[in-house]
Amino acid sequence: MATLQLHNITKRFGDTEVIKGIDLEVSDREFVVFVGPSGCGKSTLMRMIAGLESASDGDILIDGQRINDVGPADRGLAMVFQSYALYPHMTVEDNMGFSMRLAGVPKEERRAKVLEAAKILQLEPLLDRKPKALSGGQRQRVAIGRAIVRNPSIFLFDEPLSNLDAALRVQMRIELARLHDELDATMIYVTHDQIEAMTMADKIVVLHDGVVEQVGSPMALYHHPRNRFVAGFIGSPK
Ligand code: ADP
Ligand code: MG
Repeated sequence: MATLQLHNITKRFGDTEVIKGIDLEVSDREFVVFVGPSGCGKSTLMRMIAGLESASDGDILIDGQRINDVGPADRGLAMVFQSYALYPHMTVEDNMGFSMRLAGVPKEERRAKVLEAAKILQLEPLLDRKPKALSGGQRQRVAIGRAIVRNPSIFLFDEPLSNLDAALRVQMRIELARLHDELDATMIYVTHDQIEAMTMADKIVVLHDGVVEQVGSPMALYHHPRNRFVAGFIGSPK
């Protein structure tokens, strides 16, 4: 069970307010997509949810508990970034198990968790390889595997597919949707790609200049965009 609530979340860098009082509810097991142009504040918002950046104002709640002062490792979240640096000298298995090793999880238990994640991601034949012997899509699956082994209640994806070519992006979208079904997890996914948002989301949050322009299902936003900005971004051409 994992719900997320944002109450009046604000972020200032010096005198510049880049997130301007965002309110948002994410339900348990929902697949929510944050969409908006480059620089609108998507990554900053995700980093605040992850605990990598503190909020200047407002409250972040997971399952009703305020977590603003909880450290990133203790929020029950896992984040997958666009630049998913794997450790080049480590095998796939060791890359996937690394956070557990840091946490002192015994070797046998680490191996069991890694195997379970590898099965879900079809990485079993690749566990002994080093990252340089993997394709882009395989590397991205390892990065997702690193998140899965942490058993997060909420996954945060920040443009995880933007370094992949178009065909691979389509395949990975399908794999992420399957993962969402299999893991029963809450997922928040950031993209600036309208098609990704339309095809993957239960709910789309359209961001523009640090504010939420509209929240709704892909169909609701497509057929009933609230304003010209939303229409231009994902609305139907009326
Ligand atoms: P997006 O992910 O939607 O492209 P970001 O969240 O990365 O947008 O950035 C939102 C705004 O905040 C941008 O104007 C960016 O320059 C600014 N910004 C992000 N991080 C910092 C920082 N550490 N210091 C100052 N400004 C920042
Ligand atoms: Mg970003």
